[in-house]
Amino acid sequence: MEHIVIIGGGGTGAALAHDLVLRGFEVSLFERGELLSGATGRHHGLLHSGGRYAVDDPEAARECIRENNILRRIAPEAIEQNDGLFVALNDSDMDYRPAFLEKCGQSDIPTEELTAAQALAIEPALHPDLKAAVRLPDATLDAWRLPLYFYATAKANGARIHNFSQAIGFQKSNCTITGVRIFDHQTEREYDVSGDLFVNAAGAWAGKICALADIPLPIQPGPGVMVAVEPRLTDMVINRLHQAGEGDIIVPQRELSVLGTTLWLAEDPDRIESPSDHVQKIIDLCAQMVPAVKEKAIRSVWSASRPLIEQKQAKEPQLISRTFDCYDHKQRDNLEGLVSIIGGKATTLRAMAEKAADLICRKIGRNITCKTTTEKLFHYRHFYK
Ligand SMILES: Cc1cc2nc3c(=O)[nH]c(=O)nc-3n(C[C@H](O)[C@H](O)[C@H](O)COP(=O)(O)OP(=O)(O)OC[C@H]3O[C@@H](n4cnc5c(N)ncnc54)[C@H](O)[C@@H]3O)c2cc1C
Repeated sequence: MEHIVIIGGGGTGAALAHDLVLRGFEVSLFERGELLSGATGRHHGLLHSGGRYAVDDPEAARECIRENNILRRIAPEAIEQNDGLFVALNDSDMDYRPAFLEKCGQSDIPTEELTAAQALAIEPALHPDLKAAVRLPDATLDAWRLPLYFYATAKANGARIHNFSQAIGFQKSNCTITGVRIFDHQTEREYDVSGDLFVNAAGAWAGKICALADIPLPIQPGPGVMVAVEPRLTDMVINRLHQAGEGDIIVPQRELSVLGTTLWLAEDPDRIESPSDHVQKIIDLCAQMVPAVKEKAIRSVWSASRPLIEQKQAKEPQLISRTFDCYDHKQRDNLEGLVSIIGGKATTLRAMAEKAADLICRKIGRNITCKTTTEKLFHYRHFYK
């Protein structure tokens, strides 16, 4: 069977390794740092219902609700089944509500309208003057354990997973990628790995991987800052009921509340900081939804970079779609043997892998059905066995 080499050990790489071994391929994955040390291990941990994207980004909304349902089925223990509230705090939020409800309906996202009193009865920490809320199936996911379920299953099924192993170059012959050069950070040695097809799943670094092969990729790293305060202030995920913006999400993670986020566009995902004015902005905005946020101790501040698909026509970064796409570089750049998968959310990791694996099967000339919508995943602890 063909050998597929994946570059990038985030959630997308995890789900792709799982999908490809289930389809019978030989799979090797290389991650330059610890597994999940990119955006996947460092995001909010919101299993999106799609509500956040329903009005402006319906394709991403439909992807989220579909995957939300699938992940609850195949990895139930990585998800806290807590639901989410979108809260309206002023007249402008209330004006947004009819379109929000209509568009959620069109994307098959179930909603339940709540009065302010009903919302406060469920979540007493909400601002007492809130006007109304909408309940939908957002949830808290464990940003690290969920993809580790995929790694555990992929490894048990034969995938070879290499961490601290960085792709530093490609071998080419007749406009075809035939091998990748790996630097092993633990032994400080370099070696070459050959394969039948190479997949660039390096998230915000995917442009750098393509640069190693001297080809462009339409990717735009989109960093954001997150702030964790202690303790857990709500049990449900809280979103502001308005057009997706900054500082409008609070995700309860165990005994913490993770507040986020901001978004700016960067050239280099290796040079991302957490500007202090972003921290204050996030706290001020989230305190409009849950006032106690302002009084609580900050436990940590960090940032991560989204692998956004470049959209030059988007008027502001928040309007760049969160959908994903897969590129066959034979078609785009006349370079055989390399495929890139970019964009998406941690919520859509499985769907991204399915799309990439379908493309790989088409390229190789095999018709093998995806099995990952139903295959129950091994517990994440199996990864260490
Ligand atoms: C602030 C913020 C908040 C977010 N919140 C959420 C949320 O609540 N819910 C949600 O669903 N999504 C969220 N996301 C989006 C989500 O985090 C990303 O879409 C997803 O994690 C991307 O996964 P990935 O595997 O494609 O990329 P990554 O997780 O970044 O993985 C790419 C990997 O490639 C590795 N790599 C890079 N170069 C090389 C190389 N040369 N050789 C080998 N490996 C290499 C990197 O080290 C990295 O581990 C958020 C993103 C941000 C930035």
